[in-house]
Amino acid sequence: METAEATRAGKTTRVAYTYCDLCNQVPKCGMKVHIEDGRIVRVEDRENYPAGPLCMKGLASLEEQYHPDRLLHPVRRTTPKGSVDPGWQRVSWDEAYQVIAERLSEIKAKHGADKVCFYVGDPKEPRPAVQRLAYTFGTPNFGTESCVCSRATVMAAQLTFGAQTGGALPGKLTRSCLVWTRNPAYSAPHEMGKLLGAKKQGVKYVIVDPRVTPTVRQLADVHLQLRPGTDGALAMGMIHLMLERGLFDKAFADRWIEGMEDLAQYAKQFTPAEVERITRVPAQTLEEAVTLLARSRPLTWMGSSQATVHSSNGLQNHRAILAVVALFGDFDAPGGVCLPTHPLPLLPFGHTLDFSREKELLPKLRELRVDNDYFPFWTKMNGEVQMNLLPEYVEQGRIRAMVIFGGNAMMWPQTARYQAAIGKLDFAAAADYFLRPWTHNYVDIVLPAATTFERMSPIALFGRKIYLREPVVEPSGEAKADWQIALELGCRLGYREEFWHGDETNALNAILAKVGTSVDKLREAGPDGLAFPAPGEEVFRKYEQGLLRPDGKPGFNTPSGKVEVSSKTLAQHGFDALPTYREPVESPLSTPELAAEFPLILNTGSRVPMFTHSKLRELPSLRRLMPHPVVNLNPADAAVHGIAEDDEVTLETAHGRIRLRAHLSRDVLPGVIDVSHGWADANINEIVPRHLDPVSGFVAFKEGLCRVRKVDANPA
Ligand code: SF4
Repeated sequence: METAEATRAGKTTRVAYTYCDLCNQVPKCGMKVHIEDGRIVRVEDRENYPAGPLCMKGLASLEEQYHPDRLLHPVRRTTPKGSVDPGWQRVSWDEAYQVIAERLSEIKAKHGADKVCFYVGDPKEPRPAVQRLAYTFGTPNFGTESCVCSRATVMAAQLTFGAQTGGALPGKLTRSCLVWTRNPAYSAPHEMGKLLGAKKQGVKYVIVDPRVTPTVRQLADVHLQLRPGTDGALAMGMIHLMLERGLFDKAFADRWIEGMEDLAQYAKQFTPAEVERITRVPAQTLEEAVTLLARSRPLTWMGSSQATVHSSNGLQNHRAILAVVALFGDFDAPGGVCLPTHPLPLLPFGHTLDFSREKELLPKLRELRVDNDYFPFWTKMNGEVQMNLLPEYVEQGRIRAMVIFGGNAMMWPQTARYQAAIGKLDFAAAADYFLRPWTHNYVDIVLPAATTFERMSPIALFGRKIYLREPVVEPSGEAKADWQIALELGCRLGYREEFWHGDETNALNAILAKVGTSVDKLREAGPDGLAFPAPGEEVFRKYEQGLLRPDGKPGFNTPSGKVEVSSKTLAQHGFDALPTYREPVESPLSTPELAAEFPLILNTGSRVPMFTHSKLRELPSLRRLMPHPVVNLNPADAAVHGIAEDDEVTLETAHGRIRLRAHLSRDVLPGVIDVSHGWADANINEIVPRHLDPVSGFVAFKEGLCRVRKVDANPA
């Protein structure tokens, strides 16, 4: 997507259009790119594009594009795995592909195709092509970072509403918005303008968050500052008050909610006083929140895409929040959380189940899934393997090789176990923009990936509008797009027909045919994208008209046809039918002896505005804003240990110890500390507990216990 070339001051200049991928959001913010003599010199907001404006990361993207440390050609290790220095040696693409194809084929012949795992981290974009590669190769073991990050919220919504919804921004008719542990000011800055605009229009905000975030400061009418990991108890406290005081939509509940009686009985114990004891949210604040929401309907809700499920009871905690939303009765109502009436038949990454071959091949391969024995319910509900037991899979010989696109071993709890597991594989290859030692020191080959400025697939999908992306500059060095790598690897493995002989345009056309268009037509549409007029008006309360279920009957797409606050499906798999609350495995209430030794509650995983997970620390303008890892602690806790601002401290859990700098802040509750993740030299995930949610297998990143000590500058 670009304009004609011009000449200015002897330089050939042109403008092109693409989008940013630095925070791994879907959809991504649009970019207008200024190019001189084939080099990008400036990026700015893209006009007439649905997502934006660019945040500080997007504006710094050229520092990544032209970073001197970018990986520009394939490399192969020359020292044994486990060596401090992999001794990377440049190899040709041909040699790299040959080695990968030979090693994967050998392992398939000797041990079975299912012993090979294909994995996509950040960016998420290559998922459809890599998933196709996995199934075509014959393995169902395709994993993504969403198995650590957010997929459990999708699972909870599917179980409750029969729909994969994470909530919705306020609309014109919305009167209140419940924001649950989401800080878009940092995690999704493009949403903040819309949220602030809605506030000006009178929308009331109740925000649940253990911290006073910029989102809380700018939006909250009521802030519920809870102890991390107790979201389920807080939600039950809301339900208790709503039912006791009649502050819910009784007509909706009577007709459309399954399990009301059981829920009402269970919620009785969550009195405001009891909820205050568990969550530390004052009873009066809880009452204010419920009253405000009940008086300000319709209500919408914006859930965290991950924080609520990062606990040992995460899936049920998230379901409890969804039960609150359900009881207000505004689901799929004007001003509430609405499902699209006429979605295009494409998935969020602009692909189809036909393209990924999930529909055709996964049912035949499913019994070979490596997670079957551990998380059978997850296996049944998700196309992606639960990867959080990778060390166990490798130790048991269930996975012997991996192909990793954009992987980050630091995302896992007690990271060293995962690094060791990758190192023990018979073979591992990766693709990335940079050599990242915490992951790549454990693999055999690393391939150079093309950036968003250099690649094409996938398309960008916004409702009923599609935008084509095309490379705006030539790839740096020998970098190749992840999709292209997946297609070429498919050909090398013997599946030339299935991978369009490596032709990316033909692969995209196979997807676009589903909506009656093509790459050429999108190209003709230009930077403003191609709109597909809706075949009819938006319809609300689709459940009343049989528009949510494949059988056309009225109701929700759940086994009972209702919103399931009580799930027989969960009960049949041995889990609680109701969204019951359980204390974190390690907490002051569940393990008081441990809490006596480690008195502070550890909250991890909070976003910062300048980095995405472990990425972007190599960009100078962003690194200047946060030069080193910090622990945020309340001044009251700091005073107990004589800790001052910027002191070097040790942070210790029952699982290990790291060093960081202290930042004193009243934004965190006394007794709670907050540490961001992704620092290779102070990896908080190395010392978090490895407790997994029994339903989803998600990690309890938000409920550990710890202590902080000042590093003695002059030890005796
Ligand atoms: S929010 Fe920032 S990092 Fe994310 S897509 Fe937009 S500009 Fe890029």
